[in-house]
Amino acid sequence: MQSKTHLLTTFAIVTPVAYMTNNMDMLGVFGLALGTVLPDIDEPNSYIGRRIPILPHIIKKTFGHRGMTHTLIATILFATLASMIPNSFTEMLATGYFLHLAEDTFSMTGIKWLAPFSQKTLAFKLYSTGKMTETIIMFLMLICLCLEYWFILAQPFINV
Ligand SMILES: [Zn+2]
Repeated sequence: MQSKTHLLTTFAIVTPVAYMTNNMDMLGVFGLALGTVLPDIDEPNSYIGRRIPILPHIIKKTFGHRGMTHTLIATILFATLASMIPNSFTEMLATGYFLHLAEDTFSMTGIKWLAPFSQKTLAFKLYSTGKMTETIIMFLMLICLCLEYWFILAQPFINV
């Protein structure tokens, strides 16, 4: 899944929850966006991979794409960080990170959640990255997000 589809999907999922729990600030938005694109630091051609020198190449050479950055262990590391330093940034960073992996699980290639302990791939095979199936998801999420923001912005007028 491309970064723009990841971002649209993550924000479409988190926005209603954040709105209902009244639990989002700008630091949280930044953390969520960063956490959502961060796992693909193992791919030099990804959105984040193109913005950081050398490191993405090293990670890809060492672990491969969708290797260690796409595992339960990496998710637990960010969740641990959020519990040790609890604030909106770290909490949303961990949330975005987890959602990225959940979204990749719906791709044709899936991810190895339990690596390095198990090489079993979990794939729900809903879309192929960069193909029409992903474009459809991207537009559905864009429509979903627009409706959510429309609803949130219209709230004061609905309640009158
Ligand atoms: Zn990924």
